[in-house]
Amino acid sequence: MNWIVRLFASLLDTCRTKTKRVWAAIQPSIQIEPVSEALPRHLGRRKLYVVSEDGYDEQAAMICPCGCKQVLHMNLLTDERPCWTVRQEEDGTPTLHPSVWRKKGCGSHFWLRRGRVIWC
Ligand SMILES: [Zn+2]
Repeated sequence: MNWIVRLFASLLDTCRTKTKRVWAAIQPSIQIEPVSEALPRHLGRRKLYVVSEDGYDEQAAMICPCGCKQVLHMNLLTDERPCWTVRQEEDGTPTLHPSVWRKKGCGSHFWLRRGRVIWC
């Protein structure tokens, strides 16, 4: 009987991943929101906040796209690790490098490319 349970669990998992991908594809793209010094108290869902101070980009922040409502912080300072880079595409959408992987909580792992969330 165990294999049946395992089969159903994996089917359910595939289904969930597909739903997540379809959902990500139909959402409006994420836009860059430049802020100076501090993040706003409430973050918008379709935004990648880039916090800069004295002309340097310090961190990027966004609401986790999985729906868990956690705020993800990505360091942009090159002398600290881990470190991400944000590139603004011609259409204004952000590309984030490398991928974002939450090791705790929801465990989300995704790429942000051209304002689109690509699940791993
Ligand atoms: Zn999450």
